[in-house]
Amino acid sequence: MSRVYNFSAGPAVLPEEVLQEAADEMLDYRGCGMSVMEMSHRSKVYEGIIQDAEADLRSILSIPQNYKVLFLQGGAHQQFAMIPMNLMKNKVADYIVTGQWAKKAYQEAQIFGKANKIASSEDKTFSYIPDCSDLPISPDADYVYICENNTIYGTKFKTLPNTKGKTLVSDVSSCFLSEPMDVTKYGLVYGGVQKNIGPAGVVIVIIREDLITEDTLPGTPTMLKYKTHADANSLYNTPPAYGIYICGKVFKWIQKFGGLEAMKKHNEEKAKILYDYLDESELFKGTVRKEDRSLMNVPFITGNEELDAKFVKESKAAGFENLKGHRSVGGMRASIYNAMPIEGVKALVEFMKKFELENK
Ligand SMILES: *Cc1c(COP(=O)(O)O)cnc(C)c1O
Repeated sequence: MSRVYNFSAGPAVLPEEVLQEAADEMLDYRGCGMSVMEMSHRSKVYEGIIQDAEADLRSILSIPQNYKVLFLQGGAHQQFAMIPMNLMKNKVADYIVTGQWAKKAYQEAQIFGKANKIASSEDKTFSYIPDCSDLPISPDADYVYICENNTIYGTKFKTLPNTKGKTLVSDVSSCFLSEPMDVTKYGLVYGGVQKNIGPAGVVIVIIREDLITEDTLPGTPTMLKYKTHADANSLYNTPPAYGIYICGKVFKWIQKFGGLEAMKKHNEEKAKILYDYLDESELFKGTVRKEDRSLMNVPFITGNEELDAKFVKESKAAGFENLKGHRSVGGMRASIYNAMPIEGVKALVEFMKKFELENK
């Protein structure tokens, strides 16, 4: 068996211990004589799996009692619609557009009501986070929406926007559980798990109870109401059962790691190695304003497209996978999620140094 260093933005690297444990339990889950994949989601055993997963997530994030945790499907994209369908009581919402994902959410919301773009960083290819300390928040806005870590562009909100009392809704898909997060600052926070927590097919929504109502936009399907899933503890219909089981293993792995403070230190240490090198290199450059740099996604360029392509090709041959940048930005991107070991980042930087020497 040989594993590569996988810098994919998502689906992405998972902890090797988690994969190994899942492999060990594949044919016979703890004496059940069957795989978790083959199990009724109404069984006692599966009930234990989903309840433990929720309890561990609650403990990792210190989620208060008045928030529900929902394990849903449809990816982050489905949330782009579910959020307005459930929260747009006045049919007005404010969006801060800091990248493709925020932009798609903003465009989707326009189907349902008046979505206002109150700030954007599109003027400089989303390479920074705009000042959000005093934005023109709409007096009747039902919520203010952000994408907290911009997976494609490599920026992260270091301070949350001043929403002037309005409910904050945040997409944390690519920074979920990478560092501590104060859930009480949000009305709703959600993430597709395939970036930092588990296999594709699960999206986790953490939502304050008062936002879960019957009062959704007319025509909202049963499956797209938060209330449906909250009332049924995420078991209204068959949930993405195996994916939730893997998420549960990753939660245990995070707890064993020392929780989110320890995870933050680990992620800062990794990111520093890469950013320090980008700052001193004469060949490679980071593309993001320094104070807005993400700990998770690190885009970089040489400034020469042919050289970028050569780097991607040679890095792949050397065992570094998925370093090609997103198709909309070009260049390179190293996603260094929780499960990327520090050795992977060190090895990448050594490889980049060698490439720089050879291509000066
Ligand atoms: C990947 C990603 C999405 C899209 O996720 P899907 O599950 O494919 O819908 C949305 N937002 C962010 C921040 C992402 O990183």
